[in-house]
Parts: sequence; structure tokens; C-alpha cells
Amino acid sequence: MAIRISTLGSGSKGNSVLIDGNGHKLLIDCGFGIRELSARLMAAGATLAELEGILVTHEHIDHIKAIKRAGEKHDIPVYMHERTCRAMGNGAPDNAYIFSTLNGFKLAGFEIHPFPVPHDAVYPLGYSISDGDSRFVYATDLGYVTDEVLAAARGADIVMLESNYDKEMLIKGPYPYYLKQRILSDYGHLCNTDCAEAVCKMLCWGTKKFILGHISQENNLAEIVYRTTCGRLAREGCIAHRDFELTIARQDALSETLLCSATN
Ligand SMILES: [Zn+2]
Ligand SMILES: [Zn+2]
Repeated sequence: MAIRISTLGSGSKGNSVLIDGNGHKLLIDCGFGIRELSARLMAAGATLAELEGILVTHEHIDHIKAIKRAGEKHDIPVYMHERTCRAMGNGAPDNAYIFSTLNGFKLAGFEIHPFPVPHDAVYPLGYSISDGDSRFVYATDLGYVTDEVLAAARGADIVMLESNYDKEMLIKGPYPYYLKQRILSDYGHLCNTDCAEAVCKMLCWGTKKFILGHISQENNLAEIVYRTTCGRLAREGCIAHRDFELTIARQDALSETLLCSATN
């Protein structure tokens, strides 16, 4: 059995990832308006009505834009941590499924394990999602890669990690000082070189497929992201398409669907 991972979009203008395991479909985050989300789902071969759940990472608008409508009008079960729900106030769907521990739960045939990430939201989470055979780990919006994140990702078949900014582009770029400081902080976003270091460790620990996402449109370029991580891995003697696969997630459109399976 395999899980199919389709990044519907990734970046500060909206985030959503479709997880499809043996016909059971889930989303991580719901950062597009309903019409845009429906169109992107359709492009991935899915519909809103088929979704058996939406897992929320944190309350920033690029992750929850349509969450209230999705939950209340379209009756899709929305799962979020109690603290995130409180932070969202009226923006949270009335019928949300709230969890208050990180013990994990079962949903639509998947084992779901949330884990904390360092970011400037009330209680930001990453998710590990397994169908019993293969496992996908999602961690974007994090200032640095903690031991907890590395432990969660250890041995996963696909890891989606953020590679948000190129440090030089950010520092020399047009953002105001306070925003640069926010992004650079331990509770901001992950730079390309820190992402590359983490991918290097994860590859050593058995992960072979990576999706790099939440790429800044002002302070980064997909080519730099690709070059930075592949360059770091090349120093360990690891070559793309032979030793690992690296996909760059797009903001404006769907990225290619990846097969998350333990056997290939
Ligand atoms: Zn974000
Ligand atoms: Zn965020």
C-alpha cells in the first residue's frame, strides 16, 4: 500500500497538502479560499466532499483561510489542537474536533502523530501520518529544526520540510527590519542552509524523498533551494535521482504527486 502526496500549494499565500491513502483523503491545512481549494483539489483528482478530515498546523491565515467554511458549510471534520482553536476564536469551525495532547489518534485509516515546531504561533504543529506501511512527515513554518522534529522525521518515507529563505536575499531585500528579525528568529522560518543540513541528517537516517516548500517569493528562488540542498548532499556523495528525490513545492499550482511507499 502507498500514500499519494499532492501539494496543492505551498507558501505565504496559501498552504494545503492532499494525503490519499487507499481512497481515504485528508488535507493538511486549508490555506486557500474554498473556490481555489476546490479547483486545486479537482486538478489532483479529488473533491471537497471526499475529504475525511483536515489537520490544522497553526492559526496563521495562509494555513486556515477556508477552515471555517470547510468545517461548517461543507461538513469536513477539522482537527486542531485546543490551544490553536482558542487562538482562532470565532475563526474556528463550531464543529471542530479538538485534541489536547500530542498522543496521536486514528483518522480515516491513518495513524496521526502531531509534534511541536518552533514558530511564532500559539501552538504550531507538524504531523506524522502513517497508513501502517509507509509514513509521511510534514514540517513547515519552523524557525529551526529541533531534535523533536528530527525524531519525528526519522525513517519517514517522505518528508516535507520548509526551505523558506536565502539568508543573503532576506538581509539585503526590501522587508522592514522588524519583519527580517521575525523571519530570522528561532520562531520564524527556516533558511535554505539549515533546511539542507536537516535533509542531510534525514537522508542518513533513511528518508529518500523530500518535498521542500513554503518558499518565499521575495527572499528566495526555487533554483537556489534546489542547488543548496543538492550541493550539501553532494558533499556526502549523494546524488539526486540515484540516492534521493527532491521536489520543490509550488505556490501558484499543484506540484507532482509523489508516492509515499516503503518499497520504493
Ligand atoms: Zn505559513
Ligand atoms: Zn506560520
